[in-house]
Amino acid sequence: DFIVSLIDVEKSFGKNKVVKKMNVEIKQGEFLTLLGPSGCGKTTTLRMIAGFEEASSGTIMVQGVSIEDKEPFERDVNTVFQNYALFPHMNVFDNVAYALKIKKKSKDEIAKRVNEMLELVQLQGYERRKPDELSGGQKQRVAIARALINNPKVLLLDEPLGALDLKLRKQMQVELKRLQKKLEITFVYVTHDQEEALTMSDRIAIMNEGVIEQLACPREIYERPLTKFVAGFIGESNIFDGKVVNVQDQLLVVETTAGIIRVNGDGFEIGEKIHVSIRPEFIELSADPIEGFNLKGRIQDFIYMGTVVKTSIELKDKKEIKYSRFEKEDYIREGDSVNIGWNPERAVAIK
Ligand code: ADP
Ligand code: MG
Repeated sequence: DFIVSLIDVEKSFGKNKVVKKMNVEIKQGEFLTLLGPSGCGKTTTLRMIAGFEEASSGTIMVQGVSIEDKEPFERDVNTVFQNYALFPHMNVFDNVAYALKIKKKSKDEIAKRVNEMLELVQLQGYERRKPDELSGGQKQRVAIARALINNPKVLLLDEPLGALDLKLRKQMQVELKRLQKKLEITFVYVTHDQEEALTMSDRIAIMNEGVIEQLACPREIYERPLTKFVAGFIGESNIFDGKVVNVQDQLLVVETTAGIIRVNGDGFEIGEKIHVSIRPEFIELSADPIEGFNLKGRIQDFIYMGTVVKTSIELKDKKEIKYSRFEKEDYIREGDSVNIGWNPERAVAIK
């Protein structure tokens, strides 16, 4: 059962089409992230689901009902914004209680629910504080408590941790994910931070210029990127552009300006253009030639990072690729010439 469905949803501002033929089905209890660079249409998509913005065409359903038929406050959908949007003149208690006061709930019920919510976000004892007496992380918790108090079916979160420093952001990522699993509420989460998306999400929709390029679980997105954009956006990737020169079952031999490389892939023919993506950690270096490859380079910089060693390697076409390894490999030095290869199963063939 899908709790939110977007069917052929489009949004234009004047002549500028910022969301194009979007189709997404979000499952009950799922943590779904919209991930993409600034300006790709994430906020606009969220605002359409919330009902703050009307789609130019297409249909959005929440719990099987088209949202056009419902006012925003009727939709069982709440939003948490990046800038918290707390009421500055109200204390924490009144901020969190707001939705229940509007609904004219009894004093006792409000006090009970606010207390539950503050316990949930670990802010008991802060009831009388005003927003300007709270840290960024505490304000964000108040915003989350306020959004959860009337038991929404779906919580929309627009870069909710964007204003926090790195350490607090990492801590809040874990907390939010735990909270979501505990409450079994569907989260639709927007971020431009790929690490955050990989950490928190059940599924990630990668957006680029108003289009979802891939919608899958973090592992699949990372290991099997469908497009060049996805491969480049998620994690570190080395992407080669080339042409298929031989096909043996699933093994493709590819000619690039830097040399001959290999990749496993289906549905490619000799002569076809191809992109090959290989992660830095899957690259193998050797003093001797590597079978099936004719790819050579020179070690540029050698960075020792404690558990990981990273280098960039300049290829003969001046392209630079990234390489990383867990153990310290003593035989590579800056300036060394090396042969480069990888297990063709570890690389990804992209049309
Ligand atoms: P994101 O959240 O991914 O950074 P947005 O959804 O905010 O992207 O914006 C997508 C595009 O739509 C941008 O080019 C932005 O300038 C444009 N846009 C957003 N809101 C409006 C608006 N109210 N009027 C005109 N253009 C807008
Ligand atoms: Mg945005």
